[in-house]
Amino acid sequence: MRGLRAVSSIVAVSSVYESAPVGGPEQGPYLNAVALIDTARPPAALLRNLLLIERARGRVRDTKWGPRTLDLDLLLYDRVSLDLPELTVPHPQIRNRRFVLDPLLEVWPDARMPDGSAVEPAVGTVAEQPLRRLEDEVLGAEAART
Ligand code: ATP
Ligand code: CA
Ligand code: CA
Repeated sequence: MRGLRAVSSIVAVSSVYESAPVGGPEQGPYLNAVALIDTARPPAALLRNLLLIERARGRVRDTKWGPRTLDLDLLLYDRVSLDLPELTVPHPQIRNRRFVLDPLLEVWPDARMPDGSAVEPAVGTVAEQPLRRLEDEVLGAEAART
């Protein structure tokens, strides 16, 4: 198995954010993070790598939106726009999910869609979705001790 470091250099990794599951069966909370990477792999090859990494981490695809050990989505790829049967870039749900937007903007505040529009303004439309930045908890606990 070739991990992400074997196919890219990792430029930045966001904090981890905890969210409640959306849809699907009864299941525990999700942990979300975004990595900004620099890679020579074209998008479809990169997706194949991501799916291999998921499988190596024990991901089994059974129930749609069911519990999973790891879910790696390709959110943006420069300003590339792609609509292949197995790959849509940008990921269609970016602007609808706070658990995607918050970590994405943390590592790439100036993220833009292929049409040049900024991603950041979408934050206002998802503000009501509950999300907990785990670093905040850690910092809060440290502050309480001092
Ligand atoms: P969602 O896309 O709503 O986050 P999901 O991540 O739970 O749903 P999966 O079951 O993990 O969906 O993925 C199903 C398929 O989606 C993958 O096998 C892949 O071919 C396809 N796919 C299309 N576009 C993307 C993308 N940008 N990133 C990852 N997978 C994608
Ligand atoms: Ca997903
Ligand atoms: Ca996925």
